[in-house]
Amino acid sequence: MNTEDPEVIQLELKYCERCGALWLRLRGAQEIYCAPCDLEMLDLPSPRRVTSRPRLPGNHKIEIKAQAGEPSVYCGKGGTA
Ligand SMILES: [Zn+2]
Repeated sequence: MNTEDPEVIQLELKYCERCGALWLRLRGAQEIYCAPCDLEMLDLPSPRRVTSRPRLPGNHKIEIKAQAGEPSVYCGKGGTA
């Protein structure tokens, strides 16, 4: 048997370390959570991460607007009417 065929994706059963669900992951992968939990862990900022990476969605929006929203662009487009 050739177990090192690169075209064969090897999966292994893994118990999610958060909810205990049994799921399949790529052999040798580092994930320890099932897909839904992995998403939740990304979404929920842990108390430790909040201090190092504060999320300020308000400031972010303002930054994007300031870059993309140039008033002159809109004025020039709507000049036909
Ligand atoms: Zn899970």
